[in-house]
Amino acid sequence: MPIQSKNPATDEVLETFDELSDEQIEEKLVTADETFKSWRQTSFAERAEKMKKLGEILRERAADYGRLASLEMGKPITQATAEVEKCAGLCDFYAEQAEAFLAPEIVKTENSESYVRFDPIGAVLAVMPWNYPFWQVFRFAVPAAMAGNVGLLKHASNVPQCALAIEEAFRDAGFSAGVFQTLLIGARKVEPILRDKRVRAATLTGSEPAGASVASICGQEIKKTVMELGGSDPFIVRADADLDVVLPNAVTGRLQNAGQSCICAKRFIVHSSLYEDFIARLKEAFEKTKVGDQIDPTTEMGPIVDAKSRTELLGLVHDTVAAGGRLVTGGEVIGEMGCFMQPTIVADVAPGMRLWLEETFGPVATVISFDTDDEAIEIANATDFGLGGSIHTADIETAKSMAARIDSGAIFINRFTASDQRMPFGGVKRSGYGRELSRDGIREFVNVKTVVVK
Ligand code: NAP
Repeated sequence: MPIQSKNPATDEVLETFDELSDEQIEEKLVTADETFKSWRQTSFAERAEKMKKLGEILRERAADYGRLASLEMGKPITQATAEVEKCAGLCDFYAEQAEAFLAPEIVKTENSESYVRFDPIGAVLAVMPWNYPFWQVFRFAVPAAMAGNVGLLKHASNVPQCALAIEEAFRDAGFSAGVFQTLLIGARKVEPILRDKRVRAATLTGSEPAGASVASICGQEIKKTVMELGGSDPFIVRADADLDVVLPNAVTGRLQNAGQSCICAKRFIVHSSLYEDFIARLKEAFEKTKVGDQIDPTTEMGPIVDAKSRTELLGLVHDTVAAGGRLVTGGEVIGEMGCFMQPTIVADVAPGMRLWLEETFGPVATVISFDTDDEAIEIANATDFGLGGSIHTADIETAKSMAARIDSGAIFINRFTASDQRMPFGGVKRSGYGRELSRDGIREFVNVKTVVVK
């Protein structure tokens, strides 16, 4: 099936690519395997030099690559350009830190020498989503390359131009072709690649069904996986919070990337004393948000990625309202062209309603009220997911003790959740397992090897 790049604001087809044939996939696997044999022997200094160059290239091309991402998946161009620049920071970070993160660790035993090495394992296949088309790929590919592995990317089918741009950037930075390769293929071509002996591990960022499929195939093949799946992050507002400070966090935390982020604030859990005030102020801010052409630098929210996703989101909203939820604002499509929708708020969401149970991958804020901290924690944990979350309060010590009781991979206090290369990123429960970024991320795909000298 051809792979199409389409502007979600206009439905215009930007480019069409043929999917790789089985023979072309085989060539890429041969290249990956051959490259690994030499790449694994390079020094950290050599890898770091190229990685620094890659960071420079990204900075130079941030406007071009940002425009490409913006056109292909619809995020405002300012956010897309910032995403490319963030990738450059990630390149610098691992160029500077990888050697220390993977330095051998000496263990005291009765032998003359005993230590642990962190050796590369080979080709890693990454199955990636479209929502952060550069960042999601770089946070796998950069630590993989710095550890001495080689990467194969199966990107989401709607962002082929971003996938090719990333391959181009690696090549222009001086990496040999096999260190990072893009495979333009649809999901159904993933299984034979996962089963190929030359592919040693896989990482997937995306939905639960995709994760379950890739993880089960890798389970049969006894291959390591990292799964970064969905989220339904709580955003808890305690009674002592200052709404002037909370509101900008709530708006950005929910509407960045049109709400299409795994770590967006999805469930606003607000103390009853602030509940109506919070809803009124969030409504005002949502209604003021400038929705439109993503290439206009003043646009705050672009289109949803495609019509099917928009229909699913509006279905979640309408079913919840039919079950007793209160539609505060939004809930409608905007215009006839493209995939725009209104920023939406549904309050009084209760257990059993769809917005309570399911992930909202779009600009829909669910608002729920609570009276005690215990109740807020119970609501926060009343989801199958466990990715991020935030607590907004003047009482930091209480927030820290609440953070310890919330089942998620991250809790941010007094700011919305964000990824940061210095900190581990990942989830618990159905949000997945394993970690990206930081020292933990680079250690996911290495052979932790014991060496003992008598
Ligand atoms: P998706 O449909 O699962 O797609 C993600 C990737 O998986 C795409 O490359 C897709 O390829 C591929 N894929 C889909 N089904 C597959 C299968 N059965 N076997 C192999 N590959 C398969 O997810 P999405 O709609 O793009 O992204 C939204 C989801 O990703 C949300 O749940 C979101 O929370 C999650 N996400 C999580 C994180 C995180 O770090 N935890 C970050 C971002 C997004 P095609 O495009 O060719 O179908």
